Amino acid sequence: MIAVENIHKSFNGAEVLKGVSLTVPEGSVTALIGPSGSGKSTLLRCVNLLETPQSGRVRIDGAVVDFEPGRKVDRADVLALRRKTGMVFQNFQLFPHLTALENVMEGLLTVLKWSRQDARRRATELLDKVGMSDKADAWPANLSGGQQQRVAIARALAPSPKVLLCDEPTSALDPQLAGEVVEVLAQLAREGTTMLMATHDLRLASTIASNVLFLDGGNIVESGPSAQVFGSPVDPRTKRFVSSLA
Ligand code: ADP
Ligand code: MG
Repeated sequence: MIAVENIHKSFNGAEVLKGVSLTVPEGSVTALIGPSGSGKSTLLRCVNLLETPQSGRVRIDGAVVDFEPGRKVDRADVLALRRKTGMVFQNFQLFPHLTALENVMEGLLTVLKWSRQDARRRATELLDKVGMSDKADAWPANLSGGQQQRVAIARALAPSPKVLLCDEPTSALDPQLAGEVVEVLAQLAREGTTMLMATHDLRLASTIASNVLFLDGGNIVESGPSAQVFGSPVDPRTKRFVSSLA
């Protein structure tokens, strides 16, 4: 479903991604782990093209964009690819001036030009799915972090993206609130949602991810089934990192 080939990304001459390739099979969850600063957020942002790689290729569900130094990419191709994705951020990033329901409706109305009636129906369904029906008319400021993140997940799913990208979705939450978000993501995983998720949350990664990628210093230094990467890591850097999580 997702195929990233040989992505290079530098900021001001500092190379953050040094030729990263990965695939995420349809209907599976891949966890992206690695130390702070290893490039996890940048990699996710390169997958949905919020960041422009210097070189490499990103493909999601048949939409492809190729990057080469000095060659301009077609804006329409970028938007087509981005629309295959939904993104969940560490700090929720709900629109503060919109209610929970309106947050979920927003992209359907402004980007996809749905009618209010259809958008409301879809948003209501999704709030129900994440267990937030009773807070549909609440303002983000009056919701707990876990509730805000569940609304943010509903918002990301609203346009029926092919893949859900999550950037440390539980790391701003205390363990109990993180648990309710893990529950929602686990349910989505059981339903076959394709996800690529950066996380430090061992519970999240080991319960819902079938595959794990370990990113260190801008390279994927180890990857494999999660039981293998967590249970018997091979690379010394992975060993050290995994034991620091436990
Ligand atoms: P992680 O998510 O694994 O903590 P990031 O992708 O956020 O790592 O960051 C990787 C490196 O890229 C860091 O050194 C960070 O400072 C740098 N970086 C990320 N975004 C930018 C940016 N917009 N401008 C300059 N440097 C950046
Ligand atoms: Mg990050």
